[in-house]
Amino acid sequence: MSDPSDFPFTFNSAACQECGGACCRWGGYVWVTEEDILAMAVWMKMDLEAFADEYIRASYGRMSLQERLREGEYHCCLFDPYTKRCLVYQARPEQCRTFPFWEKYRGNYRVLLEICPGVAEKE
Ligand code: SF4
Repeated sequence: MSDPSDFPFTFNSAACQECGGACCRWGGYVWVTEEDILAMAVWMKMDLEAFADEYIRASYGRMSLQERLREGEYHCCLFDPYTKRCLVYQARPEQCRTFPFWEKYRGNYRVLLEICPGVAEKE
C-alpha cells in the first residue's frame, strides 16, 4: 500500500458515518483477488462458489465485484442501500481498504474533494 503521508490530501474516516457510502455508489470496477473473494465469502458465511456466482464478474481477464443499478446509480453489489453500509466491511477488498490513497488520485484529487467529505487538501 502507498504511504498516505506522501499524498497531497488527508482522509478522515469518521466522515464515512455521514456520507452514505459515496465511494461505493460511483460505479466502476472493484478489482478482487482470490484471497479477497475467499475472505468475503467466509465473512458472509457463504459457500465460495455461491458467493462468486452472486457477486463476482469477470472483466478484462480479471475479477471484479458486480454492480447493481439502483435508482440511476451503479452501486457495488455488496453495498446495502438500506443501511448504507458495506456488507463485508471487515473483510472488504484491498482496493476498498486503501481508498482514497490510490495512485490515480495522487496528482488528480479534485474529484475526491467534490464527492468524499473525508478528504481534505493538505495545508
Ligand atoms: S466491497 Fe464494500 S467498501 Fe468496497 S465498494 Fe463494495 S460496498 Fe464499498
